[in-house]
Amino acid sequence: MSMTYVLATSNPGKIAEMRDILAKLGISVISRGELGITIDILETGDTFFENAALKARAICKVSGMPAIADDSGLVVHALRGEPGLHTATYGGESLTSEQRCIYLLSKMEKAEHRAAKFVCTIVCAFPSGEIITATGECGGKISTAPRGNNGFGYDPVFIPDKMTKTMAELSHEEKNSISHRGIALREFYLALETYELSVREGGKKE
Ligand code: IMP
Repeated sequence: MSMTYVLATSNPGKIAEMRDILAKLGISVISRGELGITIDILETGDTFFENAALKARAICKVSGMPAIADDSGLVVHALRGEPGLHTATYGGESLTSEQRCIYLLSKMEKAEHRAAKFVCTIVCAFPSGEIITATGECGGKISTAPRGNNGFGYDPVFIPDKMTKTMAELSHEEKNSISHRGIALREFYLALETYELSVREGGKKE
């Protein structure tokens, strides 16, 4: 994996996790911020895949480099799948992450069942126009109060299956080993190996 990939996200929490997970897989990355890319990309897709593809393709186009995008969100059973695609802005554009967690807890006040899952879809777009994609999910439940200071976003209110701690109480390594993002990126790595092999074999034939 000799190439460098651009991370098509400006979310510092996602960048830290993606860097960490991909470094362990031997994939070197640079963030769009480090390349000085400031374009706004509207997430107008109807699925996590469509939004990730929009971001990966746009950053690949302006950088001329292969770009890896993450589109992710929280799917809550009692809220009929909300916030889903709208996780980043749930409760209003101007809220802080802490306020968003409190807003989610207020929506869950009367909920008997607190099952939820985090979903992450990764899309890597190459300058050739080809793409590779992978998805990971992490099941769990919504806590009754925020706990913990690690991670980002909704981590303080999400308790992964088989655990008593929230994601924000886990170490970075613990979170990455079970998270939707960790699962998706490790799956992406396998797809990338297959893709690189096919490119090398295709090259040999010419
Ligand atoms: P988007 O992928 O830019 O649409 O944003 C997804 C939103 O989901 C983020 O802004 C976070 O609020 C939330 N999110 C995604 N992954 C995680 C995670 O690992 N922990 C906590 N919140 C997350």
